[in-house]
Amino acid sequence: MKRPQIPSREDLYSRSKGILEVDILKDKSVAVVGLGSFGSTISVELAKAGVGVFHLYDFDTVELHNIARHTATVHDLGRLKTDVMEEAILGKNPYAEVHKYEVNISTHPEALTDIIQAIDLIICATDNNRSRFVLSELACQYGKTCIYGRAFTRAEGGDVFIQRPAQACYCCLVGNQWFDPADEEITDEASARRDGTIPAYTSPEDADAMVQVGLSSDILPVCNMMVKLALLSLSRGRESGIAALDEELVYNYYMWANRRERRFSNWRPFNNAGHLPTILRWYGAHIPAAPDCAVCSETSQLITD
Ligand SMILES: [Zn+2]
Repeated sequence: MKRPQIPSREDLYSRSKGILEVDILKDKSVAVVGLGSFGSTISVELAKAGVGVFHLYDFDTVELHNIARHTATVHDLGRLKTDVMEEAILGKNPYAEVHKYEVNISTHPEALTDIIQAIDLIICATDNNRSRFVLSELACQYGKTCIYGRAFTRAEGGDVFIQRPAQACYCCLVGNQWFDPADEEITDEASARRDGTIPAYTSPEDADAMVQVGLSSDILPVCNMMVKLALLSLSRGRESGIAALDEELVYNYYMWANRRERRFSNWRPFNNAGHLPTILRWYGAHIPAAPDCAVCSETSQLITD
């Protein structure tokens, strides 16, 4: 197959002019931890926006059950997700620099700490709490921003948390009454067993039944909010058309509902909500730092709000 000539960076992103100038993100560096349906979608979006440096963390290969929600295709079955995503990123931004780490961040945090000083943002797109706590601690320690996202069971909805330097960390979030760590979508049996979400005594048959995921179209709104927060964070201090969002996306916790079921069964119908919560709209909240948080209590003393 004849390879097309690589177009200039200016030509690639000429349509973004006035919203996100091409130079703003070309030197920005993002660590994406977890390259499942969330991490793959977000990586491609950040590449489309012109982010220049990617550090990708995932030790898994593409399996058949991934295909329906992942950016990978059936042609990628059996390939490492890091390799697949490198190709996808370079397909959108041939000028990007991609570094790959086939490790479990929970057991090999040094794969991130070795390069963390040069990172502008961490995207936590894993499906287990253990890795989220590890990233939360590293982000606290090194004063980095980290964005977490997840889907609820069967993607009836999802939530996004942004941990900014010297503000509430993921541990503060989990200890907050606003946040319900239960009812999380279980996407992978092995990962859920490691995390304790599926108890060790559960039989393989029962565990298999617990793995239930939602539709791709139901996780995309959550991915999209993570991308918006990421672009806003990366372009901070630079003049851009999206900077105005900074005055509105001031919260650190966001929730989205796709369907009026389970935890959202009491919510009002979209067409008759009045001022009450309804599906298909974002809701934001401010999660304060917990004064006694085991992870960030020292840095949280810097908080002025
Ligand atoms: Zn904390």
